[in-house]
Amino acid sequence: MKSLLEAQNVTRIFDSGLLSKGHTVAVDGVSLMINEDKPSITTIAGESGSGKTTLARLLLGMIQPTSGSILYRGQSLTAMDRRARKKFRREVQAIFQDPYEAYNPIYKVDQTLTTPVRKFGLARSREEAQQRITDSLRMAGLRPEETLGRYPHQLSGGQRQRIMVARALLLNPRVILADEPVSMVDASLRATILESLVKVKRELGISLIYITHDLTTAYQASQNIYILYRGCVAEMGSVEKVIKNPKHPYTRLLVSSVPLPDPDIRWGREGEIEAKASAPSAPVKEGGGCKFSNRCPYVMAECRQAPPPLFLTDDDRAVACYLYKAGAPVSGRDMAKSLARD
Ligand code: SF4
Repeated sequence: MKSLLEAQNVTRIFDSGLLSKGHTVAVDGVSLMINEDKPSITTIAGESGSGKTTLARLLLGMIQPTSGSILYRGQSLTAMDRRARKKFRREVQAIFQDPYEAYNPIYKVDQTLTTPVRKFGLARSREEAQQRITDSLRMAGLRPEETLGRYPHQLSGGQRQRIMVARALLLNPRVILADEPVSMVDASLRATILESLVKVKRELGISLIYITHDLTTAYQASQNIYILYRGCVAEMGSVEKVIKNPKHPYTRLLVSSVPLPDPDIRWGREGEIEAKASAPSAPVKEGGGCKFSNRCPYVMAECRQAPPPLFLTDDDRAVACYLYKAGAPVSGRDMAKSLARD
């Protein structure tokens, strides 16, 4: 199996506080892998502050890891020459939460599409450029005649987000990283935009990394899911296993509050754990044990001594929790590789 995009045991620490010289571990030893030969949709999920957007920025090369590496086609982003970097920039595209921010309001939306064609030399003539743009708009579910020639404010939020999808597609990417792409779009349009992304994977063979706090859409769209809690992977595995039968107390807390469109799943069932929903007043010290221990109803003495490693609970799922220590410990990297292969 060839890895296309990979995070290898990545940690990112930010300095915080001008006077106090504190630091925040935003991402803590996370590994993730996308298979070059098998297009997939992988979700990174967690509540606000879980580190998912920092991980997205690391994967895009927008910030550097404090330790660990991000590799594209086996090459570290920090070791790439200009040419390799340009190829990475073209092949790994991003779609962000707020489409309006990506537009210059004084220009027609056409500029958003013509600029990358020009910058990356994607067409030999005006006609070819125009054809490429209209094909991408159609693939993103838009009618070119209703889109081109308009200003951003003349389009709906859903149309603006679809233009961002079209812009990403123009560059023939291998991976699209979509950070909360539908959270600012009307609920009625979310499903159709997500469908477009699933179609992109199915018909164009493009892999997606879908960053979200919304487990319903994650369940609908993706094959694998990584649940982050305060920068660490709490649970990772097939979306069927993790969402239908969550194991980590934090995942169970997240899932218990989400109604999913599956009659076989009984949400909030009797006996469901009652984790403390609010953040702890005194956060667990870094390296001092399980980061969820202050909220966990199952906390044990060992939970406070050392952070739990990932334990295998199924072939295609691992959980960072001592409740599952009967399973074999597995490294995040090996588990990421195994999920990418399946
Ligand atoms: Fe709870 Fe302990 Fe598991 Fe952490 S390791 S989630 S504190 S049971």
